[in-house]
Amino acid sequence: MGKTSKAKQSKILRQGSKKAETLSKKISPNTKNLPDHHFKLVKVKRGLDGLGLFAGEDIKKGEIIIEYIGTILNKEEAEKVTTSMYLFEVNRNKTIDGSVRWNIARYANHACDPEGNAESDIKKGRVFIKAIKNIKEGDEILYDYGEEFVKEYIAPKGCRCRAVKHDYGAKGHVSK
Ligand SMILES: [Zn+2]
Repeated sequence: MGKTSKAKQSKILRQGSKKAETLSKKISPNTKNLPDHHFKLVKVKRGLDGLGLFAGEDIKKGEIIIEYIGTILNKEEAEKVTTSMYLFEVNRNKTIDGSVRWNIARYANHACDPEGNAESDIKKGRVFIKAIKNIKEGDEILYDYGEEFVKEYIAPKGCRCRAVKHDYGAKGHVSK
């Protein structure tokens, strides 16, 4: 995790949580019993690739499921992190290192188009996982991680999603 101290991390967590809570109540007032970066009930259990994130209730297309949270890094700090698979580049000078335990969104696995039922949505410097299809309780929540990640981490071991053709970026679509 580089040089970010525990104290700094918890400060970031508190700030992030407060904002997420406000937004959460605005968007979905019935979620007050959920952890504050959760907008919908989710479960973590064995999924497509290791642990996965599952819908704990029916989720409608367009609804926000969960916020992707973590330690906020600037460009310089992000460049020093070479061990995390959970870096999410929000913009040129803001990267979220989502490898922290309290970022439940990190459990959502990748799926190639059109097998995903969610997408990552950047809003005002924050990252939300949003449903792009109606999702039934018990379904695994899957979204396209993007070309760069797929090329680096998924293509070498082979994608496990149910797509007939996997999108391995530069190499183009490759069949199973
Ligand atoms: Zn795939």
